Amino acid sequence: MDNQFSVNFFEHTAQTNLSSEAKYPITIIVDFGHPVSANYIKRLASRGCFIQDFSASEKLANTSSQVTDMIVFIQGKLSEKTDAILELVKRYCVKNISIITTFQSHLTNESTAIELEEIFLSRLKEVGSCGVIFRCGHILSDRSLAENNLRRFAFVAPLIPSSLRSCCVGGEEVFQAIDAEQNSSSRRSRIITLLGANRPWQEFLKDYWSDNILQVLLRKFCFVLSFLLFGHLAAFLLNWLIKLGLISRSWNFDTLKPSSMRELLSLVNKYNLKYVKVVGYNNGVNHLGYRYLEKTVISTVNCDRIIRISENIIKVDCGATILQTLDFLKPKQQELYAIPNYSHICMGTAFFVPIHGNALDYTTIAESIVKVVLYDPKEERFIITSCQETTFQNYIFNTTSQVILLRLYLEVKPKARYFPSKVKLLQPNSQVLLDAFSDNTVTNIDIRKSKADSDTVYINKYYSKSQEKTKSEGLEFPRDSIGGLWDKLEEKPITSWLMHTPVRYLLWNIELFLTKEEFMTFWETHSSLPIRKIEIRYVKRSNSANSPFPDCNCIAVDFMLSRKHCQVIKEYIKNNFAVPRYHLGKHY
Ligand SMILES: Cc1cc2nc3c(=O)[nH]c(=O)nc-3n(C[C@H](O)[C@H](O)[C@H](O)COP(=O)(O)OP(=O)(O)OC[C@H]3O[C@@H](n4cnc5c(N)ncnc54)[C@H](O)[C@@H]3O)c2cc1C
Repeated sequence: MDNQFSVNFFEHTAQTNLSSEAKYPITIIVDFGHPVSANYIKRLASRGCFIQDFSASEKLANTSSQVTDMIVFIQGKLSEKTDAILELVKRYCVKNISIITTFQSHLTNESTAIELEEIFLSRLKEVGSCGVIFRCGHILSDRSLAENNLRRFAFVAPLIPSSLRSCCVGGEEVFQAIDAEQNSSSRRSRIITLLGANRPWQEFLKDYWSDNILQVLLRKFCFVLSFLLFGHLAAFLLNWLIKLGLISRSWNFDTLKPSSMRELLSLVNKYNLKYVKVVGYNNGVNHLGYRYLEKTVISTVNCDRIIRISENIIKVDCGATILQTLDFLKPKQQELYAIPNYSHICMGTAFFVPIHGNALDYTTIAESIVKVVLYDPKEERFIITSCQETTFQNYIFNTTSQVILLRLYLEVKPKARYFPSKVKLLQPNSQVLLDAFSDNTVTNIDIRKSKADSDTVYINKYYSKSQEKTKSEGLEFPRDSIGGLWDKLEEKPITSWLMHTPVRYLLWNIELFLTKEEFMTFWETHSSLPIRKIEIRYVKRSNSANSPFPDCNCIAVDFMLSRKHCQVIKEYIKNNFAVPRYHLGKHY
């Protein structure tokens, strides 16, 4: 039953720009029970295409027309329809096939659905045809199931919590993408995901509110029911059913985690670009509370291969974390040049955000990247560029560019041990702290102060050799107890939740890169500010063009504050620093 389909032939007899011996093009529409096909057929008819009965292939041979393309609309799984499609392709010698299916394969945990789609494209290639698979969000058009349900149940909007969200895409937008690919001079076999805007279901439903008296009454009734939290209960149940795998995740999701570069590239294409935001581990959303309006977040964490290229160069996929990279380097007694306090950060992020540690001699992780593989979805081209090239310099630390980073080549260094020494100071002035950073006997240093008005300051120094008579192994990483805490908290879901949630909703975390003079101003004026957990580190000047510190070595001052004091701090920064330089991986 599921595999039943209808086939319709549309002859483009209205096409006038044909040479005398050219044949009229024919588009075959194959419909596996997808209501949206009716909209496409209507669209073809409005463009002067006439339905013909060419079901017997001999009939076709005797006409002045030829099949140019086939559009297949699939409701359900593509994998169950591939044989039938191939049979049609062979029978009518179709060269170009567009297949409209759902984005469900991005949401299943197994990669088999995606692999099967790729295998199907290869099978089409073997018979000399070029296939483009469109994985679409819920399609909205007057015949579509999604639009009909939204219209019918629009009145339940007041009941639906705004946390329930998904993607819907307009039918016309899908059809235009099909046309664009059909007419493209560089048409090739590929998979294109077109998700559409990621919005709360509540908003989608509101788009279909009408003045129909029954709908208005039901809406009011649902509004009253919403006070009894019926909708929240239903949402809770829905999420459980999704977790148990009984209901598709497509009804509630805001993040996708592609498990291969191919899957990532299918999501980041010129049609879908405005609907997605590519990120790394996703601390921006989970920790800092960033929102990417109407976009689905594409976290690269599952694209995480690391390969050794030479003695001190490794090739790292964008989604590998700092933790995975350090683990990879450990057996060879190597490490990264810069080691931040927290290791659940993706290496791809390091190309765009100035991730630094507390080393005195090295600056950001980006500075040790020697080559990158980027992809420009708008131009549909790969960019491979090395650190000496202008192209590399144009993209590094450039968060406004549309390119995504796929892979990077990174220089690593021999592993060091870190021998800590902690110094407690009472009311030190700024010069004392600046002098601490000039101590060339230490390799790493950070300075901590718990509250702005506290008198006590701790300086954590790390030496390359033990400073004590007693034999000590030293530390694996130059982190004090607070610095080492984050990774431990991230290990378990409950502690990870406790670490991220307060910052996401209640706190603000800023890191400023200050010149020596600016730091002196900060230190003289900061004690009355509503800030806490101050950490001060030294960051060496970075040569990269878009670096936040291209002209001089900087003092990085990181602190937390309550969100309600955010305006006070913004004013303070504006009044005291002419051109404030922020860490773009924190609040700014
Ligand atoms: C507990 C904690 C401790 C921290 N300690 C430090 C520290 O010691 N030193 C320090 O420098 N920072 C520190 N940070 C800040 C951290 O470096 C940033 O928040 C960083 O952005 C987090 O990495 P991520 O992979 O989660 O980034 P995400 O939020 O996932 O991504 C950040 C941005 O990077 C870009 N991006 C990432 N990957 C790609 C890609 N493949 N293609 C295109 N664009 C991409 C996107 O523009 C994205 O918006 C800390 C953060 C936390 C939560």
